[in-house]
Amino acid sequence: MIYFIGAGPGDAELVTVKGARLLGSCDVVIYAGSLVNPDVLKYTKKGAEIHDSSRMNLEEIIEIMKKAHEMNKDVARLHTGDPCIYGAIREQMEKLDELGICYEVCPGVSSFTAAAAVLKKELTVPGVSQTVILTRMEGRTPVPGVESLKSLAVPGAAMAIFLSAGMIEKVAGKLLESYGPDTPAAVVYKATWPEQKVVEGTLKDIPDKAKQAGINKTAVILVGDFLGERYECSRLYHAEFSHGFRGAGKCCGKPELREETP
Ligand code: SAH
Repeated sequence: MIYFIGAGPGDAELVTVKGARLLGSCDVVIYAGSLVNPDVLKYTKKGAEIHDSSRMNLEEIIEIMKKAHEMNKDVARLHTGDPCIYGAIREQMEKLDELGICYEVCPGVSSFTAAAAVLKKELTVPGVSQTVILTRMEGRTPVPGVESLKSLAVPGAAMAIFLSAGMIEKVAGKLLESYGPDTPAAVVYKATWPEQKVVEGTLKDIPDKAKQAGINKTAVILVGDFLGERYECSRLYHAEFSHGFRGAGKCCGKPELREETP
């Protein structure tokens, strides 16, 4: 069996309990060494065969999986964050399908949720943002046309931009075609690693701030009004609002629209 496992954003305590258990049960481990924190390898079993995939191509990775399978050994394939986000797992799974090798996917904490946690922000704040867009800027690999950053910049969405910290000027430039210059923006570098860095600002000043902080890779760029101060209280916990688990309480007035005065 091959287990695709989310290694989380960095902090080894952010691997799921299941992910750590699976890691400890596999004889062969292939980890994405360019991004996965090696600290996570402490969950591997003593004597496990460990491979860093950062210099391997798809065929080489599949070859290791195939050999392990032939020897009846389980393989842990460790991907940073959650494997389903820019993890390039589809092509690996298709090759395994062709070879008739079974696999499972164990999710992980993605770097965009880790970045929100670091900033202590809710991506879906009531009355402000109820949509989350995960995307990246076009680089050496193209992004299909309709998904250009400019067209994705819809009001009220929270945007998490991956793989683009080295092009932050271009990112901000594209978004400024749709959003105002004062739209809140933040960059979180190596979220949950000891060397984590956080930069906060607006679309106008975030490229300079990120550059000054020396950030040009391994960072998530977050953009949207969810980073600002204005929001509405959730109906979910409001006394007047009844739902399946809680009847309506005594009237305490309408949820307020909170706005911090500048
Ligand atoms: N599967 C991963 C994403 C892999 S793509 C996930 O779910 O997070 C690689 C990109 O993820 C990086 O360019 C960066 O944008 C982001 N990234 C990965 N780890 C990160 C971390 N600890 N902090 C901030 N961004 C990170």
